[in-house]
Amino acid sequence: MAEQGVLMSSDRGHRVAIVEFGALLHANGFVAATDGNLSVRLNEKHILVTPTCISKGRMRPSDLVIVDMEGKRVAGKRRVSSEIGMHLLIYRLRPDVHGIVHAHPPTATGFAASGLDLNRPLVCEVVVGLGSIPLARYGTPGTPELTGALEPLIPNHDAILMANHGVVTFGASLESAYMKMETVEHFAKIALVTHLLGNAQPLGEKEVEKLNEVRHRYKTSSSSRRPVAADDLRSDELQSDDEPKETAGSRG
Ligand SMILES: [Zn+2]
Repeated sequence: MAEQGVLMSSDRGHRVAIVEFGALLHANGFVAATDGNLSVRLNEKHILVTPTCISKGRMRPSDLVIVDMEGKRVAGKRRVSSEIGMHLLIYRLRPDVHGIVHAHPPTATGFAASGLDLNRPLVCEVVVGLGSIPLARYGTPGTPELTGALEPLIPNHDAILMANHGVVTFGASLESAYMKMETVEHFAKIALVTHLLGNAQPLGEKEVEKLNEVRHRYKTSSSSRRPVAADDLRSDELQSDDEPKETAGSRG
């Protein structure tokens, strides 16, 4: 009981964050009805996660559930999300991840339902921020079929399209995971318009290589355990051939 009491009092900020980002998912039309789920790694043993059968736009902090690393509920009254297996797999494979968002944003999900990934290097900042956005084969939600399809892609990606289903994004914080969801849907819209215009001009291999160097530098620099976001990059880092400087991570 004492342990639960500590958990309940120290996780208040994370509960509020999940409620806020859930409301943003709903407001942006990334989920409908009771779709989607969000979670935060509280410590090595516990995950705070959204319950099943609730609108992500209308949650209260007390609706959330705490589970252990086997998915067993240790606090909360509601039933845990049926996608908890996917969250646990990502936390197990990626010790750097502390927040996960799953949603069904319509444009990106349209790509996923058309058998299309979002791997084409059409926008420089997306290459730096996310690298590529692969498509995992279809698996029935809430089953090992789905986690099996995601497993090989999780170590090297922070955003994955799930065939005929939706998108999952993850990062060093819940905010980072949410921002990546926005980036994926925004990029999917750009990719769609590019396709409609019929004159796509993807970046060349050399340009992509340079952007990947910037991406790698941000990922490995000690000050940037936090996510690489497109707007963290100064324009000179994307445009010049100079070695990128490592100060942007400390900007407010
Ligand atoms: Zn889903």
